[in-house]
Amino acid sequence: MNYHADINTSPVTAVDRERRDAAAGIQTTDRFARFSQRNDMFNRAFWDDEIRRPEMMAFFDSYRKTPSFRRGRGFGQKDFALRNAAWAVSDEFSSRGESQGIREGFNAPLQPTAQVASEQVEVESRDDMTAEIKQIAKLFGAGIVGIAPYDPRWTYANRVSSATFEEDETGLPEGLTSVVVLGHEMDRALVDTYPSAVAGAATGNAYSEETATVIRLSQYIRNLGWQAVGSMNDSALAIPYALQAGLGEYARNQLVITPEYGPRVRFSKVLTDLPLVHDQPRLLGVRRFCDVCTRCIDACPVKALPSGPPSDVQLNRSAIQGVIKWTSDAEKCFGFWADLRSDCAICLRVCPWNRDFGYWSNRVWRWFARTPARGWLIKLENLSKRGKRKQSTNWWKRVKSVTPR
Ligand code: SF4
Ligand code: SF4
Repeated sequence: MNYHADINTSPVTAVDRERRDAAAGIQTTDRFARFSQRNDMFNRAFWDDEIRRPEMMAFFDSYRKTPSFRRGRGFGQKDFALRNAAWAVSDEFSSRGESQGIREGFNAPLQPTAQVASEQVEVESRDDMTAEIKQIAKLFGAGIVGIAPYDPRWTYANRVSSATFEEDETGLPEGLTSVVVLGHEMDRALVDTYPSAVAGAATGNAYSEETATVIRLSQYIRNLGWQAVGSMNDSALAIPYALQAGLGEYARNQLVITPEYGPRVRFSKVLTDLPLVHDQPRLLGVRRFCDVCTRCIDACPVKALPSGPPSDVQLNRSAIQGVIKWTSDAEKCFGFWADLRSDCAICLRVCPWNRDFGYWSNRVWRWFARTPARGWLIKLENLSKRGKRKQSTNWWKRVKSVTPR
């Protein structure tokens, strides 16, 4: 593979890009600049003396070295044991090149198990190939799949070395045209227990599943003789691609709300030059809903979420420049995670879109959420017990009550 960033080439015209942005709810300004991965909060915790503190290192250590179990419900040894085990597949890949500065899935793409085949399968029908890739992505474990055009705006300006935390080339091959975006559902019963260590198993599990899906799908495409970069949090922002791939709509809690899982989903991607058909973005009524809902703002323990309409205010260097959107204060948010020694997703748990849309009643709710009845839905939500934290002990009791077959 030729690892030189082809950041200036987009497979769509400027007019088409503008149309797609409007359809996806993406707004940029003249101040737009690509995001440098060095400014991501997880990386700043290692090099930025303005924010780094011992609790942040203790947070990272609690995943792989010294789980900080304690008396509080949801933070016992079993809770940390489950959380950390859920991360194990992702950890296996992210740690194998870490000392050389390559933290796969986080600071660098998943490294190929075999290079691009020398013979290239001819693509006679883009439609057929697209359908095939989506089916295979699901065979490999993805819950939802969409395809967006490659867009150099979302490629990181720089990647960061996990050994030195210095900037390095993002290093994507030239000629990329498409991004296959993969969504993995987070377990609802675990999410209900946020904040707790056991809830973190919902995140860890999704990361481990993503790793297994992305590494297989990207290898399949390389075996066909086309380029494929398996990517999780590395290389490029996932959220704009999920929006462009028609998987959902951006919300105030900084998550993409999908019609299948609401906000309870994690995204990864495969960047490729395989000829594919791009999906169209679709709006679900989330923007209008968030305009009148404040549940995530009210529930955030450190008040890290913004009120008011989307804006391009940059609270600190961990926010992308020149994009009009709802942006959290990442310093406050990650500071809370560090103190907790576990990830937080209270703003996901309390979101009214966090429902199981397998039930017809929730599909009816979703239909009304697009209408002016949304105000009533929020009032009902506030009166009900939905979104309240469930004790982790209930989750463990549930595990015990299921008789293995
Ligand atoms: S993850 Fe937790 S701390 Fe961060 S914005 Fe959401 S509720 Fe607030
Ligand atoms: S809790 Fe309300 S405001 Fe926050 S993301 Fe969900 S719908 Fe939007």
